[in-house]
Amino acid sequence: MPRGKCACGDYTYEISDKPSATVVCHCSPCQKFAGANGSTNAIVPKDQYKLLSGDTDSWTREGDSGKEVTNFYCKNCKNLMRVEAAFMPDVYIVKPGTLEEVDVLNDVPVYQEIYTRNRPSCFGALQSVDQKAGAT
Ligand SMILES: [Zn+2]
Ligand SMILES: [Zn+2]
Repeated sequence: MPRGKCACGDYTYEISDKPSATVVCHCSPCQKFAGANGSTNAIVPKDQYKLLSGDTDSWTREGDSGKEVTNFYCKNCKNLMRVEAAFMPDVYIVKPGTLEEVDVLNDVPVYQEIYTRNRPSCFGALQSVDQKAGAT
């Protein structure tokens, strides 16, 4: 089973199957949290995600949908590990850079690239991936 951990190693988790898809997001919060031009997000059903160790902090904001979006961090190193969005109640949005072996993503399709209106022009669109200016 794929396992993941935060930068300090306190927070560890496993998922019982590969993510079904990833979404690349350039929304402003993703840019802030990643300190980069956006983030990659793996969609994992909650019943396939198991926290193995570590204490968690969380922070909740209102998303563009008007519904709550909660970020979960390692309490020690503050590594963003997963996101819970009220508009997708059955899944976690897992930060796949936290997977111990990134080749878990090799056969996982990139479903969409979203908030492309925020994508700096030096970063081109992903080939053959559905493009959305905003969330939808
Ligand atoms: Zn940590
Ligand atoms: Zn985003």
